[in-house]
Amino acid sequence: MSEVNLRIPGPTPLPPSVQEAMRRDMINHRGPEFAQMQAEIVEALKVFLQTQNDVLLLTASGTGGLEAAVVNTLSPGDKVLSVSIGYFGERFRTIAQVYGADIVKLDIPQGQAARGAQVAEALRAAPDVKAVLVTHNETSTGVTNPLQEIAAEVKAAGKLLLVDAISSAGCVPLETDAWGVDVLVTGSQKGWMAPPGLAFLSMSREAWAAHATAKMPHFYFDLKRHKKAMTEGSTPWTPAVSVYYALHEGMRLLMAEGREKVLARHQRVADLTREGLKAMGLRLFADPQFASNTVTSVYPPAGLNADDFRRQVKKAHNVVLAGAQGDLAGKVFRVGHLGYVHEADIAATLDAIRAELPLAVPA
Ligand SMILES: *Cc1c(COP(=O)(O)O)cnc(C)c1O
Repeated sequence: MSEVNLRIPGPTPLPPSVQEAMRRDMINHRGPEFAQMQAEIVEALKVFLQTQNDVLLLTASGTGGLEAAVVNTLSPGDKVLSVSIGYFGERFRTIAQVYGADIVKLDIPQGQAARGAQVAEALRAAPDVKAVLVTHNETSTGVTNPLQEIAAEVKAAGKLLLVDAISSAGCVPLETDAWGVDVLVTGSQKGWMAPPGLAFLSMSREAWAAHATAKMPHFYFDLKRHKKAMTEGSTPWTPAVSVYYALHEGMRLLMAEGREKVLARHQRVADLTREGLKAMGLRLFADPQFASNTVTSVYPPAGLNADDFRRQVKKAHNVVLAGAQGDLAGKVFRVGHLGYVHEADIAATLDAIRAELPLAVPA
């Protein structure tokens, strides 16, 4: 295979028509063309996120969306339950900490999911918590938390629920309104067939009520300004117009395929990845019950460093695997399977990995 097979969990490969869309010339971001494009994107996002809440687009990477979620709903000194199952859970926590939240930690060992009962217990022990921070899909370990179960406990306790769904939204089942997610954050370069540059955020009525008293500093990310501008068909600041073009086309493709089919495709490619890796004798990292449909983490062949192994796969086959973060670096590697991904991409990835195993294993 001569073309690069980019199998990292974001940025993800772009369909040809999305690449083409970005070649368009600039338009007035305060004009009717932009207003219509933004409205169509938001309408499609609401379908995929299963929400009637306000959906706002921010020119930022996903982390900007997480920061916006925190600073628009909380005040310094607010007690926050931070549920972390890995590297990105830590990041969400750090943002809240930097802005002065009083953090209560619920830490789950890497590779495992957080359960509703654990969250309920943590909330009973800290009844004055105002909000709960949860990662839906922990991209660093390839674990998807049972968000519906967790959300039920958070809402039963009357807390605000802020969710990092950056690498799950659009790819795995997620019902923002039915499950009671107050602020949901995702990013253009993960499941949305678009390049990096935009974060999307949904805000419930409760989230807007929290915004009214939130005292953490915010200006660029002031969501009231973003909502007002969106009502006028624009954005408060100059948006990444080319990324909007790409996203507009990406959402058109996703709507044409249909939400159910997109979710089913992610289930299929994830199953194919997991079964294929196991069949060659490799050991998966994540608890199988909560294994992610967007990214798979796997131990390298015995005796090999994960980073050496994936460099070898790239050199020989042009298949780009992801390394691991934090203390997992070198110990596991990851296969991204989200966004514009089909069975053939996974088959080629598995072939490449199989060919580089120290002992040839029959297919
Ligand atoms: C990718 C990712 C982020 C960070 O997003 P950036 O766009 O790199 O800022 C945060 N959380 C999760 C779960 C992610 O997968």
